[in-house]
Amino acid sequence: MSIKVGISACLLGQKVRYDGGHKGSQFCQHDLGEFVEYVALCPEVGIGLPVPRPTIRLEGSNSADASAVIPKTNTDVTEALSNFADQHSERLAHISGYVLCAKSPSCGMERVRLYEPSQQANRKEGVGIFARRLRELYPALPMEEDGRLNDPLLRENFVLRLYVYAEWQELQRKLTKKSLYDFHTRHKLLLLAHNQSIYRALGRRLGELTELTPAFANEYIQAFMDGLGKPATRSNHTNVLQHVQGYFKSDLDEDQRAELAEVILAYHGGEQPLIAPLTLLKHYQRAFPKPYLKGQSYFQPYPEKLRLRYGL
Ligand code: SF4
Repeated sequence: MSIKVGISACLLGQKVRYDGGHKGSQFCQHDLGEFVEYVALCPEVGIGLPVPRPTIRLEGSNSADASAVIPKTNTDVTEALSNFADQHSERLAHISGYVLCAKSPSCGMERVRLYEPSQQANRKEGVGIFARRLRELYPALPMEEDGRLNDPLLRENFVLRLYVYAEWQELQRKLTKKSLYDFHTRHKLLLLAHNQSIYRALGRRLGELTELTPAFANEYIQAFMDGLGKPATRSNHTNVLQHVQGYFKSDLDEDQRAELAEVILAYHGGEQPLIAPLTLLKHYQRAFPKPYLKGQSYFQPYPEKLRLRYGL
């Protein structure tokens, strides 16, 4: 399955910025680029602005109803930038995530400078107009900014959400109660590692489900993706690893049990990366297969070649 990812065109090295430059991202262009197919859009060029062009800035007293204005000509481009997302909805409906260029009044996901002209002041509280509309149209879509992707935890978390969401989109073609339960079961440990309260709440809701409606499916995936939205903590990973360890209790001898417990605690203490206990557990899963663990995405949520868990 080829995963499609939306991206601010300047992050792919396209010279579309206001100053005629680009913001090429090494990770997006080379590392992630090997695994996904990009849909590159520049909303500002897309609404007909030239390169180079006068700068745009966000104006308003709060982010929710901020406007995008070109101060030089006093032109308001809010509606055009917002409509640009709607005009591309056919292409955007098939993407599984979006990488946005930070700080941009069009593409910035958070902390964009918001100017209050009456007070001659600005605060880093805005959201780019295109990004804001994207979030309204696709509330469950994984979104991340280029700068944040330099953080190994946020990078891993974004890629993980990308793959989970792509699987969900694929499922939409033939979503049934059974396929929804299968999806939930397959990602249970992953969700548990990220957000225990959403894990429990969704488990309860699925247990009470009588009829699968599109509204329920939307609420479900929104809550699920919210649950994965923050990187899993070391403590939560440790809980999951110890939970998995329990499955092999009667298969391992005393030394093996002690070694496994030690590696998990060493990870918890920050002396080992996550990959260390995971490798050992995967080894035991191969030696003593457990049906429940077999399909768990927690062990391999995305291609191993991305090597994203080595630094965690
Ligand atoms: S941040 Fe967005 S609008 Fe600005 S140049 Fe990049 S793609 Fe275009």
